[in-house]
Amino acid sequence: MKKWNLIVDVAECTNCNLCALATQDEYSGNEWPGVAAEMPRHGHRWIDIKRKERGQVPQVDVAYLPVMCQHCDDAPCMKVAKDGAVTKRADGIVIIDPVKARGQKQIVEACPFDAVFWNEEKQLPQAWPFDAHLLDAGWKEPRAATACPTGAIRAVNVEDEEMTAIRARDGLEQLKPEAGVKPRVWYRNLYRYTKCMVAGTVAATIDGQEECIEGAAVTLRRGDATVGTATTDAFGDFRIDRLEPDSGTYALTIEKEGFPARTLDVAVTDSITIGTVTL
Ligand code: SF4
Ligand code: SF4
Repeated sequence: MKKWNLIVDVAECTNCNLCALATQDEYSGNEWPGVAAEMPRHGHRWIDIKRKERGQVPQVDVAYLPVMCQHCDDAPCMKVAKDGAVTKRADGIVIIDPVKARGQKQIVEACPFDAVFWNEEKQLPQAWPFDAHLLDAGWKEPRAATACPTGAIRAVNVEDEEMTAIRARDGLEQLKPEAGVKPRVWYRNLYRYTKCMVAGTVAATIDGQEECIEGAAVTLRRGDATVGTATTDAFGDFRIDRLEPDSGTYALTIEKEGFPARTLDVAVTDSITIGTVTL
């Protein structure tokens, strides 16, 4: 049985919000019986682009993370819903019934991704229903995927075994795996949002002038284990990525032939730009 999955590439998202706008256009002012009641014009972000800034000037990067209902296979919202108000279709899509779910605010609170919004006027929990009505009408992808200009969002309708192979091939991850809810939304390059980096610049004084040092070897170690390596670019800049937040203190060593090596301690709580290290 083929089921729907959404693949989101964090590195490709530019925060243009076209996916969110297309979704708003689909549901604001429109009822889709059995799938979704009208989306309020304000306050609901069924597709929410979250933003994470890493590092400090001058080495900063910004990642954008589109978050929507993850269509969990072990969905907490289903467990707290009464009267069959939340159901999972055979194709994997989770539907919050726009009639049966009325008054059931516990569905909002049960979602570990904050993907359910409360419609005050209708007293109704609402979330992105994967555009199930469009897929049923023959669409190949939901509107968010067709609207995305960079290909950061795409939908695939495949057997679970094939999805397992795609996940392994493309290095796809789940958001909040610790929640254990088996989402059907998969993220590529999620480290850009969830992990930390250490960045800096290497320089040296040559003939009385401070010069950038290209080609210096930078190594981050904890005890005897090498955690990451980098080589400085033409501007003397380096970056070591995919570190766990709050992971403690590392030894950062910078080596370049003809200069004395430098080692300094770097405490990683969040991403950090250590500035210029002079050899
Ligand atoms: S993301 Fe939230 S609303 Fe969607 S299926 Fe999972 S628990 Fe339910
Ligand atoms: S349309 Fe694509 S690039 Fe734009 S915000 Fe959505 S996912 Fe990101």
